[in-house]
Amino acid sequence: WGLGYTLVNKGNGNTTRIRDVVIVGGGTAGWMAATALSRYFNDGQRQITLIESDAIGTVGVGEATIPPIREFNSMLGISENEFLSETRGTFKLGIEFVNWGRKGDRYFHPFGFHGQDLHGIPFHQLYLRERALRGAAAGSIGEFSMSSAAAAQGRFGRPSAKAKPPVSEIRYAYQFDANLYAAYLRKLAEQQGVRRIEGKIVGVRGDAESGDVTAVELEGERTVEGQLFIDCSGFRGLLIEDSLETGFEDWSRWLPMDRAFALPTSGSGSPDPFTRATAHDAGWQWRIPLQHRTGNGHVFSSAFTSEDAARDILLRNVEGEALAEPRLLRFATGMRRKAWNHNVVALGLSSGFLEPLESTSIHLIQNGIARLFALFPDWPIDPRDRDDYNRGMRELYEDVRDFVILHYKATERDDTEFWRYVRNMEVPETLAKRIDQWQRRGRVFRENAELFTMPSWVAVMLGQNVWPETHDPMADTLDKHKVAMAMGQMRENYRSTAELLPTHEEFLRKAGAWH
Ligand code: FAD
Repeated sequence: WGLGYTLVNKGNGNTTRIRDVVIVGGGTAGWMAATALSRYFNDGQRQITLIESDAIGTVGVGEATIPPIREFNSMLGISENEFLSETRGTFKLGIEFVNWGRKGDRYFHPFGFHGQDLHGIPFHQLYLRERALRGAAAGSIGEFSMSSAAAAQGRFGRPSAKAKPPVSEIRYAYQFDANLYAAYLRKLAEQQGVRRIEGKIVGVRGDAESGDVTAVELEGERTVEGQLFIDCSGFRGLLIEDSLETGFEDWSRWLPMDRAFALPTSGSGSPDPFTRATAHDAGWQWRIPLQHRTGNGHVFSSAFTSEDAARDILLRNVEGEALAEPRLLRFATGMRRKAWNHNVVALGLSSGFLEPLESTSIHLIQNGIARLFALFPDWPIDPRDRDDYNRGMRELYEDVRDFVILHYKATERDDTEFWRYVRNMEVPETLAKRIDQWQRRGRVFRENAELFTMPSWVAVMLGQNVWPETHDPMADTLDKHKVAMAMGQMRENYRSTAELLPTHEEFLRKAGAWH
């Protein structure tokens, strides 16, 4: 599942298999975990129980995703068209950023890559040379991507096995109604034998000697015992924090956003196959088009603006008719010191949160599940597995954190106190090194199994006007006339191919994916 791990069945003479897995919480995280666990770890002798409370409810605003979710769904045997229809979902080819580098700027961070490397030289280095030679006549980097060309025209094509280049270069994810996704997964999980218990957890029991959690207590004097607990209880972290006091690492000095107003509006016409993130004075606004409505929200920092002002900005900047009152969500940015502590694995919001600028939260859940599967413990739990898990999750969180911070740091805006703060703030050393590498020769190196690869860094750096001092000298080894001609052909090919694709709505309807 994008980790390069294979599932292995471990076990030695001194351990027994875990028989009772208890999932606390039935939001996106809980039902993703329940569906995946019941598909891969249900050998008839293991009981998987999920506890959720309708009275408490879910966050339910996770609507935009990144491409690895396709692997998750496909591992669960989910048909793409059925899933889109059930969740009123749409395709997503990337994110359009508005007002980030400067007010009035617009760029696209596409899924997939830019152009074709020539003779092993990365495309973006050839592009940087072209820009140095021909200035703006070389075009914008966004014109050299099949995903952005299709998005720019509101069109979509599936890069199926039969698709020819450049349609085969399209990479995509989904935008969907998170509540409907959780409901859809619940159906599958229950069919696969998951026991669902409705009720509010009011107490947690632990083993005095080991400190492990042994059971949760529900209203009405019910008790559910388990060996492995998956804490999907949302921001509060019922087990991982309330009971185990694991601790939270706060990252708000780099990412000061701590609130959001969410507001669904009516959609009209063919939905855009992309998410839009528009920067405002002390935050930014998402726009996520679904089949039946558009999801909107204003993420902001309460240190730099008031709730009333943030609400007004959102109401003034949405299209269509409001379908509800704006809903306020509060959050803290950072991660739990250990996502897996004792016999509790935190998934989803209970493990940490990074603002949804690059739509990564659902991916962090998926990745946590994949990692748990790769290290699935026997009883007693081997602390080395736990350490591996925590190391991997920390790396992933920090990678995503750095990439999100880049959007704020790499700005020329200084029109509000907020933008002056983020523009001048110290960033983590890992990111500072990255920016420095880029500024000198436009180089980007992928380390470990980083989620965001070179094309993503290139899209944001160039989209926000961070031009390197010079390109890599390798690019000068190719004939400049031949490169200019090849690039001109690529650009035209992307544009004209996109023109022949169906509109996004036509595609969804024809595929039987429209509800
Ligand atoms: P929740 O949805 O909060 O679910 C918690 C569950 O625990 C509920 O079922 C609740 O009933 C249960 N529970 C809690 N306490 C108890 C108790 N005492 N007893 C019994 N049950 C209990 N992610 C993306 O990938 N893309 C996005 O575009 C995106 N946008 C977002 C925008 C905002 C403003 C926010 C805040 C988040 C966004 N996310 C996004 C994140 C996404 O919403 C979450 O990652 C996802 O919904 C998972 O939530 P969860 O399941 O961890 O928690």
